[in-house]
Amino acid sequence: MTLFSRPSLSSLRAWSKRALRDFAAFGRALVGAALDLVYPPPLLCGLCRGPASLSLEVALCTACLERLVPITSRCDLCGRAMARPRAKRGARALCHQCRTAPPALDYARAYASYQGYMRALIHSLKYQGELWIAQGLGELIAWMVAVDPGFQGVQLIVPVPLHPQRERERGFNQAAAIARVAGSLLGVPVVEAVVRTRETMPQTSLSWQERLRNLRGVFDVPSPRPVQGRGVLIVDDVYTTGATASGVALALKRAGSRRVCGAFAASSSLERDFLDAEARGV
Ligand SMILES: [Zn+2]
Ligand SMILES: [Zn+2]
Repeated sequence: MTLFSRPSLSSLRAWSKRALRDFAAFGRALVGAALDLVYPPPLLCGLCRGPASLSLEVALCTACLERLVPITSRCDLCGRAMARPRAKRGARALCHQCRTAPPALDYARAYASYQGYMRALIHSLKYQGELWIAQGLGELIAWMVAVDPGFQGVQLIVPVPLHPQRERERGFNQAAAIARVAGSLLGVPVVEAVVRTRETMPQTSLSWQERLRNLRGVFDVPSPRPVQGRGVLIVDDVYTTGATASGVALALKRAGSRRVCGAFAASSSLERDFLDAEARGV
């Protein structure tokens, strides 16, 4: 038995061709890197793919930012837009839901209201497969987390999971795509630590208690070690009922996470709060 067999002429030819190809690719990469140093490629806006505005801290354009409706007046806990949050001195201003049945999240914020341009962007991302929009939404989330002291102590990012069947149909999990962008900008590792064990019925017609019941046992942390004792940030595109993010937070806390926050590109306001506020004449 011989340890080394003599290479055939055809395998030598194939090898030399491959080596030449690799060498040419290496040369092209070198030239490309040198050109990038002299003429940096224009930065594209992560939402519309037009030129990004260089004056901004994020790779977005001012036209896109102006079309979004940032949440400025909000619930201190879940971050939903509230008409006029009022709290007694030293207390937190909470929305109706956080007063009556608070989510398992310790702190949550969304950049913009789930309406108009933001709603259209999220629909294009999820239902038309325009995956590059995840870049822009990740930029917004990273910026929001970086400047808000409420997010201090985040050590790990966990995206809200899709059921594997749904992910196969869609081809991607938009929350994971957004989380990867935010994680790389913030320098925080992203771990898909939570899995969805079964698909849930649409929740729009259910009450909050029914939604929580509907989600019981849906989320699982198969390998708890990476999340144990850590400050975790849940990332998703939109915070609507809050029940999903709360279910994920509960699973993480059961698995031993220390503090669980949530960061979302958008959140919908609770009409009830606006109606309450109107009824009180505020
Ligand atoms: Zn833009
Ligand atoms: Zn709230």
